[in-house]
Amino acid sequence: MMQLQRPQAPQSLKENYKKWGREYEQKLENPKANNDFSWKGKYQEISDLLFEITKNHCCFCDIHPLKASGATVEHFRPKSKYPKLSYFWGNLFYCCTNCQKKGDNFPLDYKLLKPDQLSFLFEHYFIYNFSTGIIKPNTARTFNEQKRAENTIDLYGLNKYGRPEARILERKKFFSANNPNINDYSFRFILE
Ligand SMILES: [Zn+2]
Repeated sequence: MMQLQRPQAPQSLKENYKKWGREYEQKLENPKANNDFSWKGKYQEISDLLFEITKNHCCFCDIHPLKASGATVEHFRPKSKYPKLSYFWGNLFYCCTNCQKKGDNFPLDYKLLKPDQLSFLFEHYFIYNFSTGIIKPNTARTFNEQKRAENTIDLYGLNKYGRPEARILERKKFFSANNPNINDYSFRFILE
């Protein structure tokens, strides 16, 4: 996970997110309605903007190039439980299909870490094991922070899907390249 510096919301979201969120909430409350989610024709614009600011990396696992492996826009707080936030810019993250398996899960007790928090820093919350490729919560932090890091690892499967092995390989590739550009690699949080 890398810190995400989010620019202003697209104008259409800024103007309509409350109204569209209320509409979606009403759809969910009406069992007879077809409550399929619609992006109101804004998916491409949102996805292109997120592509640009993440440099085509997944906001959670940081895999790259994301578009090649199936990019999607994730509702951080699931739209089934937080319909009012379904078009809220701060709730939308560029995400890979594995991280999206988080689905409707959203822990209420210790929550999840959010990469666009101003204070978010990988090394604050996590410890990376260079020989196993595994990520663990940083035990130097408060109980609350460790729980949030643990929930984030579990729900996004940060140690699943062959990711620890892939992280070890990516570091090797990066450190043996001549003058590499960090944005061309996955897992930038362990490459510095
Ligand atoms: Zn991912």
